[in-house]
Amino acid sequence: METTPPTSLERPQRQVVFAWDMHYSCNFRCPYCFYTLTGWHELAKKSTYKSAEEWKRVWHRLYEKYGSCHIRITAGEPFTYPGFVDVLAALSQEHWVQVTSNLSLRPLLEDFVRRANNRRVELDCTFHPFEAKFEDFLQNVLLLRGRGFIANVCYLAYPPQMARMEEFKRRFKENGIHMNMAVLWGRYAGKEYPHAYTPEEKRWIKEVIGYEIGPETVGLEPIPTKGKICGAGQRYAVIHADGRAVRCGQLGEETIGNILDENFELFQTGRPCPSDYCRCKEFQMAWEEEEKQALLQRGEVKV
Ligand code: SF4
Ligand code: SF4
Repeated sequence: METTPPTSLERPQRQVVFAWDMHYSCNFRCPYCFYTLTGWHELAKKSTYKSAEEWKRVWHRLYEKYGSCHIRITAGEPFTYPGFVDVLAALSQEHWVQVTSNLSLRPLLEDFVRRANNRRVELDCTFHPFEAKFEDFLQNVLLLRGRGFIANVCYLAYPPQMARMEEFKRRFKENGIHMNMAVLWGRYAGKEYPHAYTPEEKRWIKEVIGYEIGPETVGLEPIPTKGKICGAGQRYAVIHADGRAVRCGQLGEETIGNILDENFELFQTGRPCPSDYCRCKEFQMAWEEEEKQALLQRGEVKV
């Protein structure tokens, strides 16, 4: 029977959120991956390798300015960063940390569950069926959950892997795990997604999600964002592997500064969004409170 464990740690309200692309390296090569499409080799030159002590100093400066933050580590694959478990142990003394992982490196996961703090660190586990075996992935999710970690599972509605999404949903469910869905933002077969999903495909994805309205379905009917005041840059930022901070994943050129700089600061106020649409649901925590409340009342987002 599917159980419903908590899906996130109880973090303080109104935390500053940082999404950290920790380094550009991964042991997988998923065909839909932004980094695979951009070219890992070139991106890898921007990676900055530091020890746990050095990162602790950088993030401690941010702790002194903004208090305990929510750090969402993506990478590439974070567990391939040298000394990653040490970095996590250092950061989670002051911040809440969420790690997105393909969950493929079992020995490192075993080290992680022994040493990481399950009250401060949670995992977003993305299943990539072109690269990973279902049974291995499942066993690693169960290892994390067995040690009291919040470990959510996500699956991308990439057209060539949509045929198996119901099957995987069922198999996870048989093991008490809810599989979340993510929609594709990007090109496939010359078409731009999510706009290119046909009405039938959207219906199909919603059926697999299991409900009509909510955070997972938002991307299927993107809401225009251009001109809306957004807190990205003020209480949310994306940190690139070289320490450069930008407002959000879509506004790659709008640099705020570099977190390696001792004087780094976020914007004082929200600013208008210059983009037509907001990918990755970043807006859900970034929009001004009044705007978010209006969307919540209309049932267009859930947070
Ligand atoms: S596991 Fe993630 S980072 Fe690695 S190739 Fe796949 S999508 Fe990209
Ligand atoms: S609405 Fe989305 S795309 Fe626009 S600035 Fe905010 S986070 Fe970025």
